[in-house]
Amino acid sequence: MRKKIIAGNWKMNKALADGQSLALEVINLAIEEVPQDTQLVLCAPAIHLASLDDLLKSTAHVHLGAQNMSEHASGAFTGDISAEMLKSVGVQFVILGHSERREYHHESNELLSKKVKFALQNNLTPIFCCGESLATREANQHIEFVNKQIKDSLGDLNKDELQKVVIAYEPIWAIGTGKTASAAQAQEMHKSIRDFLATQFNQATADSISILYGGSMKPTNAKELLAQPDVDGGLIGGASLVARDFIAIALSF
Ligand code: PEP
Repeated sequence: MRKKIIAGNWKMNKALADGQSLALEVINLAIEEVPQDTQLVLCAPAIHLASLDDLLKSTAHVHLGAQNMSEHASGAFTGDISAEMLKSVGVQFVILGHSERREYHHESNELLSKKVKFALQNNLTPIFCCGESLATREANQHIEFVNKQIKDSLGDLNKDELQKVVIAYEPIWAIGTGKTASAAQAQEMHKSIRDFLATQFNQATADSISILYGGSMKPTNAKELLAQPDVDGGLIGGASLVARDFIAIALSF
C-alpha cells in the first residue's frame, strides 16, 4: 500500500503568528476529521519550523516539512540551511527541486541529485519535484523531459534509497495559475513516471513510491485527481494557506 500524502507548500507566506494560527487550525481539523492513514505535511518557511515542531507533536499524522535544503553539511554558505539544522528542529520532509527554485535559483538536475542524497543520508524524506513547462508540453516532449529530470536526479540511488523518496509531479503551467492538469493528463504522467521507475529499478520499487500531483489542486478538483490509480496525493500551494481548504483536499481520497 502506498502512503497517501497531502503536503502544503506555504512558500514565502505568513509571518510567525499567522503561521502558528494556520498550523493550529490544520492540526485541530486533522485530529477531528482526517483518517490516520492520510499523512499531512506542512512545508513552512524556515523561520516557522522550530516553533511548529512543538505544535505538531500533538498529532501523529501531521508532519513538518522544509521547502529547501543546502547540499552542504555546514560552513561558509551564507543564508543556507543544512540538513542537520532541519533535523534539529524536528523536520521530517523537505521539498527539493520545486520549479520556483529551479527557475529563480538555477537549481539543476545534477545539484538536486546531491541534495536528494544528502537529505536521505540525514533521514529526511525528499519530496522531489519534477514537471514540464507549457512549451515542452506543447512540443509533446513532456514525458521525455520528466523522465530525464528523474534519471538525472534519482538515477544514482539504490532501491532502498529510492523507496524513501516521494515524487511530486508539478506541471509548471499549472502552478499558481488556476489551470489544473486534467485528471487524464495527471494519470498519464504519473503512470509514465511509475513505468519509467520500473525500468530503472524494478516494478515492486516503482509500485511502492508515492507520486503526488501539484498544480492548482483545490477542494473542487481534488476528488477527481486523487481518484486516479497512480495519483497518491497532492502538493498544494495556494490552497494550503486556508486550513479548511487544505483539510477538504485531504478528505478527498
Ligand atoms: C506548488 O507551488 O507546489 C503548487 C502546487 O502551487 P499551487 O497549488 O498554488 O498551484
